[in-house]
Amino acid sequence: MMQNMNRDKVGGFSCPVCGGFIPTSMEELVTSSSLVCPVCNLQLTIDKASSQKAMEAMNKVMDAQKNVEKASHFDGK
Ligand SMILES: [Zn+2]
Repeated sequence: MMQNMNRDKVGGFSCPVCGGFIPTSMEELVTSSSLVCPVCNLQLTIDKASSQKAMEAMNKVMDAQKNVEKASHFDGK
């Protein structure tokens, strides 16, 4: 299931039951509690715990990028 997060680029992921395309976004994954497959009407409950982990990981990357920017600005002076 973790690989679903990597599909965010294309705005959705494959339904685990019918393999149909379920359109979604990172924002929707975080803000809504469930998604419905448009092909088979399967209701998927969004795992808030893993979404939160993904958000934390993203924040860490952004923090790291900020630090790198700061460091390079400082170095350039
Ligand atoms: Zn489906």
